Amino acid sequence: MSSLPTVYLVGAGPGHPGLLTLRAVECLQQADLVLYDKLVSSLVLEHAPAAEKICVAEIAPHHDQRVVPIHEAMIAAARAGRRVVRLKGGDPYVFGRGAEEAEILHHAGIPFEVVPGVTAAVGAAAFAGISLTHRAFASAVAFVTGHENPHKPESVLDWNVLARFPGTLVIYMGMSRIDRIVAALVSAGKDPQTPAAAVHAATLGLQRTVTATLGDLPQRVREEGLTAPALLLIGEVVKLRRELAWFERRPLFGKRVLVTRPRHQAGALVQRLLDLGAVPYVLPTVEIRDPPDWAPVDQAIRTLQQYDWLVFTSANGVQAFLNRLEKLGLDLRALGKLQIAAIGPKTAETLLGFHLRADLVPARFQSEDLAAELLTRIKPKQRVLLARADRGRDVVRQQLSSVCAVEQIAVYWQVDAVETDEEVMNALRRGEIEFVTLTSANIARSLLERLDTTCLRRIQASEIKLVSISSVTTAEVNRLGYKVVVEAKEATIEGVIQALIGII
Ligand code: SAH
Repeated sequence: MSSLPTVYLVGAGPGHPGLLTLRAVECLQQADLVLYDKLVSSLVLEHAPAAEKICVAEIAPHHDQRVVPIHEAMIAAARAGRRVVRLKGGDPYVFGRGAEEAEILHHAGIPFEVVPGVTAAVGAAAFAGISLTHRAFASAVAFVTGHENPHKPESVLDWNVLARFPGTLVIYMGMSRIDRIVAALVSAGKDPQTPAAAVHAATLGLQRTVTATLGDLPQRVREEGLTAPALLLIGEVVKLRRELAWFERRPLFGKRVLVTRPRHQAGALVQRLLDLGAVPYVLPTVEIRDPPDWAPVDQAIRTLQQYDWLVFTSANGVQAFLNRLEKLGLDLRALGKLQIAAIGPKTAETLLGFHLRADLVPARFQSEDLAAELLTRIKPKQRVLLARADRGRDVVRQQLSSVCAVEQIAVYWQVDAVETDEEVMNALRRGEIEFVTLTSANIARSLLERLDTTCLRRIQASEIKLVSISSVTTAEVNRLGYKVVVEAKEATIEGVIQALIGII
């Protein structure tokens, strides 16, 4: 028995991060090193927050010379006792050279496990509405590589046989040889009228599908400017698309949307955007930190009995306050008979996660409304503890302090994010990202301060469209000299989503 850790050869699926298997997630979560293919989405890599992540294109830029250095990196890391995940697009054993890697590991005496993934053909079939088999149209399916030159004698593939294949043909890596592939099939007797499709970036919001007869497909693909990675699907089943292409009908299909929330809070919005067919980009503009000094918070927590109301103006505040309470060795009983107010549904939901029910949530989710409703409930002489960020608007304290005693504690710090993702920045500069969601005034300010003139000009010209969560956020954008294209009716993530759908 080897004592070396197992190397995992994991299929990452065709692109959509939700198409990962549970086993793949388990492997990623415990990995020390992830060696990933270039096509793997960054959202998939988020399952391995602690691991070192290396794109194999960095190990060796040239595709042909990559194999040996990847093998060496994998073996060296495993021998050093690191848990390695070799993450490959689609399925490792479908045109993924996974078997070569497994053989090398076997010969090196390193234990391995292979985790299957959703291969591109299966992903494209589902998301482009082209069932690979069908009782009426296709009883077989063939996965074929288009990487070989059909006219070269050394080609292992017999295109004459493929032309007579009684079912659906799916050709991987065929885009650069599409003319030769179609010519080979047609000259071997395949009907040029056979329905055919090319699907680019299947399962992602970037997915593009071109359909034509087999004979016309190369021309149509060129007209549409379709590029790799793409699959060619050939067979009667392509006709099913007319009724089955559910994904391309999603309300935000193909729309590129920037999410600017802190990374740990971006998930829900990203998920919703993916579900609606959009292409989410993440560029956190603010970050949440612990306060540099817990003393004022601890003092308030230790003397909670003196307060009547505990007020939260964010989900982050709830999390930070209750985590601290627990760290101090206390539990929910410390809250005793305190009444609790939450600024909005997300804050209330976070409280519920701790089994606490908010006594007050205002009808509109902003500070003015929270203060106004508190004023109708608070009795003179009562004491209010306001748990919030170190910065932000001072409305609640100001409005309450004329009536009662308000103590304010900063349970977390919000700072402007320093790290910049150049890929996302470039997508903004090039005008690829059309929509930018702004989910707080601070986020709006932080973003507008860090963008360069190219991006700012695009905002002025409405090529980049700002979507605001609330009137407070809109006011901040206006103060900085910009305009939003739409403001959410309700100050929630779902409100932002609905506003976005409304302007498509
Ligand atoms: N192991 C992978 C295939 C790797 S070969 C799998 O099982 O899917 C790379 C080829 O896969 C690309 O040239 C393209 O033809 C296809 N491919 C991969 N991802 C794709 C996607 N999201 N959409 C369309 N084609 C894709």
